[in-house]
Amino acid sequence: MPRSQRFDVAIGGGGSVGLALAAALADALGPGFTLALIDRADWQGTAGNDLRASALSAGSKRLLTALGIWTRLAEFAQPVTAIDITDSRLGDAIRPILLSYDNTLTDSEPASYIVDNERLRAALIAAIMERPGITLLGGSAIQRFAAGPADVSIDLADATLVSRLLIGADGRGSHLREAAGIKVLRWSYPQTGIVTTVRHSRPHGGRALQHFLPSGPFAILPLPQNRSCITWTEDTNEARRLLALDAAAFSGELARRFDYRLGEIVEVGARAAWPLEMQLARALTAPRFALIGDAARVVHPIAGQGLNLGLRDVAALCEVIADAARLGLDIGSGLVLERYERWRRLDSALSAGTFDALNTLFSNDWTLLRTARDVGLALVDRLPALKQFFVAEAAGLTGEVPKLLRGERP
Ligand SMILES: Cc1cc2nc3c(=O)[nH]c(=O)nc-3n(C[C@H](O)[C@H](O)[C@H](O)COP(=O)(O)OP(=O)(O)OC[C@H]3O[C@@H](n4cnc5c(N)ncnc54)[C@H](O)[C@@H]3O)c2cc1C
Repeated sequence: MPRSQRFDVAIGGGGSVGLALAAALADALGPGFTLALIDRADWQGTAGNDLRASALSAGSKRLLTALGIWTRLAEFAQPVTAIDITDSRLGDAIRPILLSYDNTLTDSEPASYIVDNERLRAALIAAIMERPGITLLGGSAIQRFAAGPADVSIDLADATLVSRLLIGADGRGSHLREAAGIKVLRWSYPQTGIVTTVRHSRPHGGRALQHFLPSGPFAILPLPQNRSCITWTEDTNEARRLLALDAAAFSGELARRFDYRLGEIVEVGARAAWPLEMQLARALTAPRFALIGDAARVVHPIAGQGLNLGLRDVAALCEVIADAARLGLDIGSGLVLERYERWRRLDSALSAGTFDALNTLFSNDWTLLRTARDVGLALVDRLPALKQFFVAEAAGLTGEVPKLLRGERP
């Protein structure tokens, strides 16, 4: 690449959210549009590193369908047909299901799907490769940037780019957010998210299970072929001990928390762990700059919504930019970014607050609180309309839904 090159948009961070925005913008802005996608990691170097699977909402699936990406994922995606919830102590002999709901929307479309993160990333990269106008810059961290009246100048180690707009999609430790001077509200949970995949002897029938245990939720998310992804929130000290166990002892600990309906655990895959925290950027934009994905907020994985929120940012920002371009406006102007900020700020803050409150409510062993929440769960179980509302909410299809989440082109 020449030492200085001009682009319409530059995206710093090529995780799933940055990749999805690049594909969406290329489609929305069409021929002649130029985009630089910059990641500090080598594009191939990180492959195979993410052991997680994500619960993708119906809204996210519609976005991926509109971008032509879902066709690459459909055969690997497990529709979630129902969700069961228990609330018990680790040693309890029985874990009654307190709340069970049909996870489909009114037209019987599944409200969520479980997809391996690596499959999703591979499908996104393949989609990017097919689109003209996108320059991929791997192994280049953005060092600094400076916004001027008409563009933003972006310094990499060995080149300077000029763009009309810079997007910060560089994840939870966002250097770009800091460089833009955007403050962040944050706290760490005394919990660690352990992730692994298991193969079990009985079929799951598409049912997901969430055991609320005193140290945090233990989720069993169905994957194709009698496999399930385990997302296991554990007290950080206990997690350290669990992660240091040998394979047999770790399997034994898993089995203590598992769902007896799935039979025996036949195989346990590799394990990985994430420190859990809450982060909320105090603003989503700065001059010629916008935040998306985990750079904008990091939520507790209790409801499996972090990536879905990031894809909602993608849909809203893409629509705002496409509308501005159609009207011949400067796509990096304050007027355009202000619309994105207004659209996403409330949902971002409400989601971070709600998942934080849910974690506080469920990750403890206080008898009175346990009784109250169990009565609450049993009550919700008897209210089909309320359950349907929660399903639509988790599917990302309430409020002012951007076009891409409805499956339409912006
Ligand atoms: C245990 C766990 C389970 C989860 N389960 C779910 C789930 O079921 N459903 C769901 O919706 N969400 C889930 N999430 C959340 C989800 O994984 C994240 O929200 C999502 O991965 C964020 O993607 P991102 O692209 O914003 O950030 P990232 O994936 O962190 O990507 C950031 C990218 O930026 C690059 N980068 C960093 N700094 C720079 C720089 N200075 N210059 C250039 N590039 C840079 C990095 O290399 C990386 O590629 C879960 C999270 C955890 C921890």
